[in-house]
Amino acid sequence: MQDRYRLPRSVIPSRYDLTIEPDLEAATFSGTEAVTVEVHERIDEIVINALDLEIDNGWLSNAAGTRIEVSGIAFDEELQRATLGLADPADPGSWTLYLAFRGELNDQLHGFYRSTYADDDGDIHTIATTQFEAADARRAFPCWDEPDLKAVFAITLIVPDGLAAISNGPEVEREDLGNDRIRVRFAETMSMSTYLVAFVVGRLECSDPVDADGVPIRVVYVPGKGHLTKFALDAAVFSMWFFTDYYGLPYPDRKVDMIALPDFAQGAMENTGCITYRESLLLVDPEQATQPELENIADVVAHELAHQWFGNLVTMRWWNGIWLNEAFATFMALVTVDAWRPDWERWSSFARACTSAKEVDALHATRAIEYPVHSPDDTAGMFDVLTYQKGAATLRMLDRYLGGDEFRDGIRLYLQRHAYGNTETHDLWNALEEASGEPVRRIMDQWIWQGGYPLLTVSSDDEGVRIAQRRFLADGADDVTTWDVPLRVRELGGEERSVLVPAGGVSSPADPDAAMVANAGASSFVRVRYDGDLLDRLTGRLSEVSPLERYGLVDDHWAAVSSGAADASAFVRFAAGFQDEDDLAVWQALMAGLGWCDRFVEGEARERFRGFVRGLVAPAMDRLGWEAREEDADLTRALRGALLQGLGVLGADPNAEAAAREFEGEARAGKPVDPALAAAAVNVVAVAGDADYYERFWEAYRDAPTPQEQLRYLIALPLFRDPALMDRTLAATLGDDIRSQNAPFVVAFAGTNRDLGPRSWTFLTEHWDDLVSRFPSSLTIRMVDGVRFLSRPEDVAAAAAFFERHPIPQSAKTLQQMLERQRIAAALRLRATPDLTAYFSS
Ligand SMILES: [Zn+2]
Repeated sequence: MQDRYRLPRSVIPSRYDLTIEPDLEAATFSGTEAVTVEVHERIDEIVINALDLEIDNGWLSNAAGTRIEVSGIAFDEELQRATLGLADPADPGSWTLYLAFRGELNDQLHGFYRSTYADDDGDIHTIATTQFEAADARRAFPCWDEPDLKAVFAITLIVPDGLAAISNGPEVEREDLGNDRIRVRFAETMSMSTYLVAFVVGRLECSDPVDADGVPIRVVYVPGKGHLTKFALDAAVFSMWFFTDYYGLPYPDRKVDMIALPDFAQGAMENTGCITYRESLLLVDPEQATQPELENIADVVAHELAHQWFGNLVTMRWWNGIWLNEAFATFMALVTVDAWRPDWERWSSFARACTSAKEVDALHATRAIEYPVHSPDDTAGMFDVLTYQKGAATLRMLDRYLGGDEFRDGIRLYLQRHAYGNTETHDLWNALEEASGEPVRRIMDQWIWQGGYPLLTVSSDDEGVRIAQRRFLADGADDVTTWDVPLRVRELGGEERSVLVPAGGVSSPADPDAAMVANAGASSFVRVRYDGDLLDRLTGRLSEVSPLERYGLVDDHWAAVSSGAADASAFVRFAAGFQDEDDLAVWQALMAGLGWCDRFVEGEARERFRGFVRGLVAPAMDRLGWEAREEDADLTRALRGALLQGLGVLGADPNAEAAAREFEGEARAGKPVDPALAAAAVNVVAVAGDADYYERFWEAYRDAPTPQEQLRYLIALPLFRDPALMDRTLAATLGDDIRSQNAPFVVAFAGTNRDLGPRSWTFLTEHWDDLVSRFPSSLTIRMVDGVRFLSRPEDVAAAAAFFERHPIPQSAKTLQQMLERQRIAAALRLRATPDLTAYFSS
């Protein structure tokens, strides 16, 4: 049966000649299109996607000179369609459909929308730009807006003289139309899906093109920011070289422009040859940026370029396949950045991202990675950690299990076989199975089609070591779901090897005293629990356990606390064993657990807890030195920043607070301060800061020389612990000082404030309608994210009651997950408060 959301297949487009003229001042646009179509059966109407557009007139004509007028147009809001009635029936054959249409440049950051910025004189400039994925091309021009209806796009923009005009293809012709109007024509694209079309018009500048194997790459930016483009260009050139080699296919189109937009709802968008970004994910001064800020940019640049082949050249047939598109680009970005900057130990920070995915995937309200998608709106729920991080983690697990060369050969086969076409998920498994000879589809189907993941229990018996599995659930509940688990194991001092753990578990011979690491290299998406003294054997020899594996030990230990299988005080004792730790990711895992503990102790017990944190962290900081050194590796700098923050925020350490005030003050005065220290200092100062600092933070936010520094100060505003300042920050999310792309995150961060989080909840509920109408609808769910930190029983009841009356239909699943996480945090508070209070009182 034809799904009601799919267009009829009686008319199929192959080429759009599209002309668009925006009026930036009036915030409107007009356009015409001539669409080459093949009519497959006699028709008297044409059904096409169109939303928030006026269609003025249209007709159908063919080479024989027949012309059929569009005699009536009926719009269907719900299905986002126009039905074009024809004055006479049209016979099967080749036709061209002509349409003239008009629309408004919206402020919702989707379709054809308006972004603005103020120049140095305070004059406001408007940029007209697009964001079409998943199904918003229909807001800019009438089209067959489904990913398998690929076509060639020949785009023309008519723009005021002096403005930049950019689209998917390179510019091929420019004509002066008089009256300050210029017609700019772009080369036609490869055959591609509508969601990858893009055009941008505005007062923008372009960097000189850099050549990557014959493909010119530029960065496009708001005037005055040209000095922030080099890092992204370097990352792009490396990525292009890497992908051309890895995929075994040249870049499929003609050029790459990477455009930094002041207003952008997502992180970035892989429009073919015309990739759009948030400014903070493209423009950077590497001398002023932290290692994670640089890593983010390198990741996103590589991710969007990875899509140009995987996604743009070969595309999912329908939106159920979006997870594979995103998971694969995420995985490839990791591989690429790891090859570009091995010193960043990219897989370590990915382990942290996997923790976020594991937290969600341990809920009853999790979902399978892939699920049936009917309406394009169902796709909204796919853009989350389960798609990006869990999806990428399952691909990595497969890559490690098959071997890197076999995995790459499968990818090459897949791309060659399906170039310019559309696929289902199993087409990739088939290609990997063919290249490797392994039962890829059987293994992957379990990981893709069922939610959750296994908890592996390691125990010793007479014969050796036994690995059993059951599903890990965040509330400790039982569940019978099982997986074939591709796993790497090793004994300390021995070689790593692969095992496939079946549903019933597996035994392997081992020395009775062996110290066994399950999930060696942390390459599988599982948690591990060690029975008896097996954990002590590992913690007794921590220096022989790799940093990624130590990360796993800490992260899994905290997950056990969170699910009720271990006490918070046991975690504190366990953490005390890491006093010699020198790895960033491991420290971050320790701090994450201790950060929760800090929420559950008060008064005298809290003072003692803070003393414990200082006793653990200060020696590590002393070993590292409080000042950055010229010869420090990037990760050493990042670790120093993390320790400063841990000492200052969790330890309330006076030395750390004083150092932070000094670093922050110097950085704000433009003096050279190590970026990791400067960034950490902003948070430490905010947590202990008064109204004077608050004013200075606003100033620093407004005058920040880079997008990263601006974000650091913005995100620190909700960390101040004076109620009046919190109220000002929250009120500002409804004003003009904070862009709608960022404001939802400020509201969310306010929820994480240990003492004032509940105030953000009051604000959220009192201003709900206002907030919802102000922010892009895809970001509504983001501002709710702080709710999971509000763990008092009354908070849980209030949230449940509120969202009963105020659902978020476009993010229903994610909301359910947030509320479940809130309940888990509340249960943890009930257990951990007496436990930690007793522990820190003795
Ligand atoms: Zn992507």
